[in-house]
Amino acid sequence: MKVMKFGGTSVGKPERMQQVAKLITTGSEPKIVVLSALSGTTNALVSIGEALAIGDKPLAKQIIDGLEAHYHAFIKNLLKNEAAIKKGEIIISEHFDFLNIILKISFNEALNKDILAQGELMSTKLFSTYLEEKGIDHALLPALDFMQIDANDEPYFDAIRVKLNRILQQHAGKKLFVTQGYICRNSKGEVDNLKRGGSDYTASLIAAAAKASVCEIWTDIDGMHNNDPRIVNKTIPVVQLSFEEAAELAYFGAKILHPTCIWPAQQEKVPVKLLNTMQPEAPGTTITQEAGSEGVKAVAAKDGIIAIKIKSSRMLLAYGFLRKIFEVFEKYKTAIDMVTTSEVAVSVTIDNDTHLAQILKELEPFGTVTTDKDQTIVSIVGNQIAQTPHILSKLFDSLLEVPVRMVSYGGSSHNVSVLVPSAYKIQTLQLLNKGVFGLE
Ligand code: ADP
Ligand code: ASP
Ligand code: MG
Repeated sequence: MKVMKFGGTSVGKPERMQQVAKLITTGSEPKIVVLSALSGTTNALVSIGEALAIGDKPLAKQIIDGLEAHYHAFIKNLLKNEAAIKKGEIIISEHFDFLNIILKISFNEALNKDILAQGELMSTKLFSTYLEEKGIDHALLPALDFMQIDANDEPYFDAIRVKLNRILQQHAGKKLFVTQGYICRNSKGEVDNLKRGGSDYTASLIAAAAKASVCEIWTDIDGMHNNDPRIVNKTIPVVQLSFEEAAELAYFGAKILHPTCIWPAQQEKVPVKLLNTMQPEAPGTTITQEAGSEGVKAVAAKDGIIAIKIKSSRMLLAYGFLRKIFEVFEKYKTAIDMVTTSEVAVSVTIDNDTHLAQILKELEPFGTVTTDKDQTIVSIVGNQIAQTPHILSKLFDSLLEVPVRMVSYGGSSHNVSVLVPSAYKIQTLQLLNKGVFGLE
């Protein structure tokens, strides 16, 4: 079994969807195809929810109508025969009737999740209609029947594995399956999702659950590049990454992968490939257990970071101080990314400010607490970075003009991170591209 996931841009135009149909029908191995919503759809659905949350129904209606017109135009170019177009129209009407009904009822968070699910539901149904029109045998598997998250909003992997394999057995003999990325059910049985970009996570979970031979993530670029191609002019694809390197890059901002999507594939040792739908022959990036080559591979940046410093002379020679501080963050389910300590102070970073006020209040008894908002973690990832000649001197020489707030080195052998004010992010990425990768 092979898993192939296609992102928003890969299905965002009728001709791209047709290209996807070609890619999934080459080779004899059975396949599970995971689709995102058409590009732009989830953003529009988020805007509908935001408009409803502030009671702006006319704005919500305007976005719904614009999106509906887009889908009608889309199927006219995707489908050819009358019956298929009729079927496409019915699918679109069903989902837009739902969106129009919610304008009449009271809005809440659970309903918002239903709104967000419409994109993947529509893309897969329309794609399935196209496959049908082409006479391509397949089964459309509703992700809501097997993708599940627990009370902590984490994937409930054992349930996913059991349910998915049961469903696959019911379709013995089928060679092609299509399902939705991103959407799932939560512990209350309601429709929920795996957060923005979550279709990658779906693919990796399915690949692990079905013990697939490979998990292919098809997108609009030829693999993981050494730097953010949206920010830096000259970037090059990285041929090979280990699961750990890929996970670090995804977590620290490389948008090509969902932040936590690597662990399921890693757990079952399923190789992950990042491939380009528009350039299928390009080698892309292969992610496996082994790191492959040594040295620096890529840099990524994660915005929206808050640095918190707790300064106290009581920390001097004391033990248990760090535990007490970390317990405050644990209490508020707030993950810490970077930590640096001196004898009298500790600085940590968080990216979730939901409970910031409570956390700061509870830290006050430990010493003087200061915060720096609008920070960015820039993470340089590679294999055996510590052994890479001159890596630290290259890093710091490159960043002479940047006011680095924190440095984290030695936590693992494949990462060195610096914290910089977000206003310096672009400059930092550009300087590192030249100073560390020798690319201009
Ligand atoms: P999809 O819709 O297929 O899931 P995404 O937009 O989520 O695609 O991810 C692909 C995009 O990630 C690329 O178009 C690129 O702009 C961006 N990106 C950011 N950092 C990197 C990187 N280091 N390597 C490759 N792409 C990156
Ligand atoms: N459609 C969702 C999003 O835009 C999930 C995904 O594309 O991965 O975030
Ligand atoms: Mg994505």
